[in-house]
Amino acid sequence: MTFSALRIDRSETAGYQCQLEQLDESALPEGDVTVRVAYSTLNYKDSLAITGRSPVVRRFPMVPGIDLVGTVEHSSHPAWMAGDAVILNGWGVGETHWGGLAQRARLQGDWLVALPTAFSPAQAMAIGTAGYTAMLCVLALERQGIQPDRGPVVVTGAAGGVGSVAVALLARLGYSVTAVTGRPAEADYLRQLGATEVLDRAEFATPGKPLGKERWAAAVDSVGSQTLANICAQMRYRGVVAACGLAGGMDLPATVVPFILRGVTLVGVDSVMCPLPERQAAWQRLARDLDPALLALMTHEIGLSEAIPAAAELLAGRVRGRLVVDVNR
Ligand code: NDP
Repeated sequence: MTFSALRIDRSETAGYQCQLEQLDESALPEGDVTVRVAYSTLNYKDSLAITGRSPVVRRFPMVPGIDLVGTVEHSSHPAWMAGDAVILNGWGVGETHWGGLAQRARLQGDWLVALPTAFSPAQAMAIGTAGYTAMLCVLALERQGIQPDRGPVVVTGAAGGVGSVAVALLARLGYSVTAVTGRPAEADYLRQLGATEVLDRAEFATPGKPLGKERWAAAVDSVGSQTLANICAQMRYRGVVAACGLAGGMDLPATVVPFILRGVTLVGVDSVMCPLPERQAAWQRLARDLDPALLALMTHEIGLSEAIPAAAELLAGRVRGRLVVDVNR
């Protein structure tokens, strides 16, 4: 039996390549659950893997795709049986273990989360790893005592995947949300998701003062670098920043001043190795707190072969919201 998959390989003669290929099921990696994949998505990390722009892929050949939704075909894991609908996010899948941009995947049962009944498979991947990470950021803010009455929340990279879901979630939870974007043309989109204010990211892109005017009670940042440094400097007393991304760069040219004079908290958020109970909680909260009607607004669906050119588009910041990949077309 063969299946369609994106396959990344590298060699001295051909260099780094990603192609749509037919692979044999016998080539699937080890695992106790085999999944018939319905949808995967194109996340920032997948785009880095497909283009080879950063060393995301640690083993070759690799099937990219850090997330997937599908149906269990075979399982020797006690938690899963044939026919179960499951979601996978992270755990090094698409980096060290063959991933979701394929019609078949073989995985560890311990990595899987049951598809919440609130979502169709396509909706679950409209959320994908970006949306699940946005939820982890909101949960991190809540753990630090943030509630809507504390004041406005700023979301950077707002028109991207993490940012779009974060804006929608926070607005539904009753926060006043300021969206920061480099795409003024997406201001109406961001307001439809629930943002009350939209700011130009250029305002955050150049070095600012170590301590600025107190603006934000909380922040969800997927950009990093100078943007994150400026956000930290603008936090209100005891404000909380959830930092999950580096779309603007991996450096952090900040001072300690906001932390020692305003008691600001900087919380790091990782979705890849996040323990299973927190993942399950995040997906349950997504089912409760995300308006599924907004998913259509932030999602564009593509086929497996289209994921290769789309990766460069995403890294160029030209994709709005989320790209869902139907691996069967
Ligand atoms: P997207 O490409 O969908 O969104 C990123 C957004 O960041 C863009 O849409 C753009 O928003 C903004 N942006 C891009 N380039 C720059 C720049 N040079 N300066 C400032 N802003 C910029 O990616 P995702 O939302 O999927 O991921 C965002 C980040 O979060 C990535 O770094 C990703 O690796 C990280 N991530 C981390 C996870 C974790 O576990 N910690 C999990 C998932 C993602 P706009 O056009 O609105 O300005």
